[in-house]
Amino acid sequence: MSTLRAVKGMNDVLPEEISRWRRIEEAFWRIVGRHGYGEVRTPVVEPTALFVRSIGEATDIVEKEMYTFTDKGDHSLTLRPEGTASAVRAYVQHSVQNREPVTKWAYLGPMFRRERPARGRYRQFWQAGVEVYGDPGPFVDAEMIHMVVTLMRELGVEDVEVLINSLGSGDTRQRYLDALLAYLTPHRDALSADSQRRLETNPLRVLDSKAPEDKEIAAGAPKILDFLDEEDAAHFQELQDTLTALGTPFRVEPTLVRGLDYYSRTLFEVLGHGGELGAQNTLCGGGRYDGLVEQLGGPRTPAIGFAMGIERLLLVMGGEDAAPQPDVFVVIPHASARREAVVLLDALRAAGLTADADLRGGSTKSQFRRADKSNAKVALVAGPSELERGVVQLKDLAAGTQEEVAREEAPARARAIVFGENA
Ligand code: AMP
Repeated sequence: MSTLRAVKGMNDVLPEEISRWRRIEEAFWRIVGRHGYGEVRTPVVEPTALFVRSIGEATDIVEKEMYTFTDKGDHSLTLRPEGTASAVRAYVQHSVQNREPVTKWAYLGPMFRRERPARGRYRQFWQAGVEVYGDPGPFVDAEMIHMVVTLMRELGVEDVEVLINSLGSGDTRQRYLDALLAYLTPHRDALSADSQRRLETNPLRVLDSKAPEDKEIAAGAPKILDFLDEEDAAHFQELQDTLTALGTPFRVEPTLVRGLDYYSRTLFEVLGHGGELGAQNTLCGGGRYDGLVEQLGGPRTPAIGFAMGIERLLLVMGGEDAAPQPDVFVVIPHASARREAVVLLDALRAAGLTADADLRGGSTKSQFRRADKSNAKVALVAGPSELERGVVQLKDLAAGTQEEVAREEAPARARAIVFGENA
């Protein structure tokens, strides 16, 4: 029988790798917490129609990348490819707008897209993201972009670039699409097959095509920023002025359109440089989606959000993997002392220490070797003769010193060695 392996593009994260994940997760919750975001957890599976209606039928995600299946009740379900659609669904379903005028939500979890796996591009990947409902911006837009940069800095990722653009709103977008179409149509035959199709279904997407022949044509296309109406332009200008006031450098990138249909006005991306990041260097992407809540059945509600890829951050973040490390390793010189050892371990843990042992027993020498290898600070030796006398041996593994202490004193004394406390 062949051995089973994880689905291609879906990764295991083993305990020795988890410390770097936790660093990101903790920094994320710390920083969004400081900004007043609350955590929302939505199901990883949603009705397929949710993503088709929000992300857009003619997008890469919906056309080719969704994990869609029919369940036993004949419902079409999809593993979520991103977090915004689910968050909006929940916002509408629970009529959250009736409880508060402005809502700030944050989420962290796995997303699923059947993309071609590469470094930094997986089929299950983790995103941390936020959404703000009810605030039309532009100040919250700037605050959000600045928050991402602050988070990156806290993680030691300094070499980042912030790109911003505006897609305008309703009317602007349509006027631009007309102009874009008028420009692209004569170039039709020179475009890639994908872009020729997009010309009919979603011409904006031709602008962020990666095909060289498309890039060349896109470079000469009319720029959306020239089409903004007065209000859109003022919104975009204030975004820039507030970013400047916050000291966050940015670059206006007029070809930034991003792959999802629901965006309006502010769009942004944070690119990372260096580390092990290759071509997949977009660490974070986001934007305003003022029409989506209404489109999904809620009241007209302005909204903005972003998502950042945890695996991509790991590639630029640096820092060492670290296996979990006990404070105290209990050495059991004789099999008959194992029950007592379990009770001792419990007392050590109750005192707030991380304690471990090899409960299979085995030779004292091999247990000391494990104690050393585990990087424990203290080895506690509890053999039958010590236990009979009501004592244990504590060995400070760094100093190489050993002392005999009363059994009840052991947790406090071990704490004294580990944390430098007075026992
Ligand atoms: P998006 O939802 O496409 O705007 O992506 C937001 C962020 O999620 C990107 O900037 C990446 O950091 C991350 N991301 C998107 N797709 C993938 C993927 N297939 N594998 C790993 N990370 C991804």
